[in-house]
Amino acid sequence: MSKTSSQSVFKVYRLKYDDPSLDRAGPKRDDPDWLDRALAHEHARSIPVWRNQNLVDGLNSSSPAAIVRGVELHDHAAEIVFLGMDNDAPVFAADYSELDEHEVTDLVGHGFTDLRKVGPLLSEAEAALLAYARGMLFWHRNHRYCGRCGSTTKSQKGGHLRACTNPDCRRPSFPRTDPAVIVLVDPPGGAGAPPRCLLGRSPHFLPGMYSTLAGFVEPGESMEQTVRREVFEESGVEVGEVRYLASQPWPFPSSLMIGFHATAISTDIRLHDDELEDARWFSADELLAAKARGEDETFCLPRKDSIARFLIEVWLEERG
Ligand SMILES: [Zn+2]
Repeated sequence: MSKTSSQSVFKVYRLKYDDPSLDRAGPKRDDPDWLDRALAHEHARSIPVWRNQNLVDGLNSSSPAAIVRGVELHDHAAEIVFLGMDNDAPVFAADYSELDEHEVTDLVGHGFTDLRKVGPLLSEAEAALLAYARGMLFWHRNHRYCGRCGSTTKSQKGGHLRACTNPDCRRPSFPRTDPAVIVLVDPPGGAGAPPRCLLGRSPHFLPGMYSTLAGFVEPGESMEQTVRREVFEESGVEVGEVRYLASQPWPFPSSLMIGFHATAISTDIRLHDDELEDARWFSADELLAAKARGEDETFCLPRKDSIARFLIEVWLEERG
């Protein structure tokens, strides 16, 4: 998490996997000749992806580097996507998922891994680039057929569109991101009340972990409406004011996490649906004490590269 002040009244937060240093060069996607030249460019680089895993090495060095290979392997890639320009170097994502493990190791390299395992060790720019590549290629692999007529689709515009190949249909599909809200709720109270926040525990979490509540935005909902619905469905707590803080790309596989702080108008907890096995109001002192003694299986907070942790840390900074 980095924090800068763009103006005196604004805080601009940037979370892991969000880095603007790559120029996405959107207008270039419309020029097939330019894309051909970019692929053959002497400085062209590509980010290999294999079955949702990224190729990473050098994690033991002081500056872990995501490997970016030359273009000679592109003949073996099932899909190639133009990601953008890193100064004068065109950058692509290349999907080797159709090779088996032995083939991909021989051809591309050893060290494909889940980005979430190594993201915290990578630089901001590397983590964002690998997440972008992973997200784009996941979308391609899962949109090979037209959602309207079932015909095959074909990649266009440097991989930023798939068009149906049925001449009577030609339906275009665009890379998809699923918006999800994530929210830290504090209780009504006002001055003098000890600061507390609502955290919940899913049965899928690591032992002892509690986190902010989250859920996908449904069609026809505003994000604020989703916050209120999800918190009520999961915990029985009713939410009043909702304040946006920051968002985080989370292409695992295809989400955008939109982070809020909110204030409840009720405090009784009733677990309505089956998403949480527990939800509680935690005091800021409890969270600070847990951090001070070291997090373990009896209690821990979400991983440090997540927006859930960010929402908690900002709240502790403001209220703790
Ligand atoms: Zn179609």
